[in-house]
Amino acid sequence: MIRASLFLFATLIAASAFADDVTFTGRMEQGGLVIGSAPAGTALTFNNNKIPLTPDGHFLLGIGRDAPEHVDLHVTLQDGTAETKTLAIAKRDWEIERVDGVPQQLVTPDPVLSAKIAAENKLMYAAYMKLELTPFFETGFIRPAEGRISGVFGSQRILNGTPLAPHTGLDIAGGMGGQVHAAADGIVTLAHPMMVMTGNTIVLNHGFGLETIYIHMSKILVTEGQQVKQGDLIGEIGMTGRANGPHLHFGATWFNTRIDPATLLDVLPAPAK
Ligand SMILES: [Zn+2]
Repeated sequence: MIRASLFLFATLIAASAFADDVTFTGRMEQGGLVIGSAPAGTALTFNNNKIPLTPDGHFLLGIGRDAPEHVDLHVTLQDGTAETKTLAIAKRDWEIERVDGVPQQLVTPDPVLSAKIAAENKLMYAAYMKLELTPFFETGFIRPAEGRISGVFGSQRILNGTPLAPHTGLDIAGGMGGQVHAAADGIVTLAHPMMVMTGNTIVLNHGFGLETIYIHMSKILVTEGQQVKQGDLIGEIGMTGRANGPHLHFGATWFNTRIDPATLLDVLPAPAK
């Protein structure tokens, strides 16, 4: 019986050029990272953006924190056959904290700093959108600092009824001056001192849209354009920018879509040494 149904399954697959041509691993969930595989010459479009394929046919997709239940990936094989693959995205529950009775000036951002923050956000955006076609991410990822996890991805505070922007990283309370290491091989696409919100900030590009972010550091020990190896010392833990204690905020992004860095470490772990 099992044999018969397997045979039927195999027949069904053979009827569609697509069924087994494009495959997925990773996490198809909010904040998740999906690793796809497709034959050479396949063209992929996601949210109106062309998705690059590595030389051995892999591609990455980042799923946003608030992604809908279904997202579409448009696939065109080398022979011209086209199909839309609808991916079912699992919903996650985020930590929501309601805080009332906060003095209103702490809820409304300082207008004097808004222009500077907007200019800095543009620099971050440019770093996230930079396309790098070396698959540095294939080294896998390590946790960039030692310490207690003091904040998780996706959590959100609601102050006096006003929702703040969700938290986009993993906070590691490693103590002032603690070592910050490159989570994977990559290129430093941003090394910016003293940004208003994020303080001393580094963005590493790991290729194919995947980047990691290191903020609130007391020291930056790399320069823009520098190539780093996984584990290289890139900075020291601090509390620059908007931080209420020394910690490393470790973030991850796929182009401009913030993903959960804890998921990244699970999905693409560096091989044990
Ligand atoms: Zn943080």
